[in-house]
Amino acid sequence: MTVESLSYAIDEQDHLVRADEGYYRFAEENGWDEASTSLGRSLWDYVAGEEMKKVQRILVRRIRDEVGSVELPFRCDGPAVRRKMDIRIAARPGGRAVLFSARLRAEEEREEPQPLLNPEVPRAEDTIDMCGWCDRFDVEGEWVEVEEAARRLELFNRPELPALSHGICPDCNEMLLAA
Ligand SMILES: [Zn+2]
Repeated sequence: MTVESLSYAIDEQDHLVRADEGYYRFAEENGWDEASTSLGRSLWDYVAGEEMKKVQRILVRRIRDEVGSVELPFRCDGPAVRRKMDIRIAARPGGRAVLFSARLRAEEEREEPQPLLNPEVPRAEDTIDMCGWCDRFDVEGEWVEVEEAARRLELFNRPELPALSHGICPDCNEMLLAA
């Protein structure tokens, strides 16, 4: 691959408003024909799966409202390659626009024949508990924010997300009981 980095930005309505040359070259190398009509469209048109949309929406909201920026590893495999990338997602200070910058960390050709199941990737057979009140996630008994959950559960390194199970965390439960 010749593209080492790419970036794109969304406005306050989550519409793609800017994409750099790397974005278009990356799209071309991956045979993604629709890239030229990306601008103006909703980011969420490009995120596959309801669970993934939900988690990424929470993440973007948290970046805008709380943490400012987050850096996460993610997998972006092509037909013939396995890719490890890092993405930095950052809100513009004082604004609602969000910039996504992805950088290639490692790439390797797939060996033939491909195994049916990639042993490195946890299978999406489990469910993840999330709190419907505070949008935190249960990671081995500890309730953590979305970016921490994404890191520890490798949410963006999986081909699909586990099902989300909506409940209430002990903190929120206590708060409601006390109210
Ligand atoms: Zn909660």
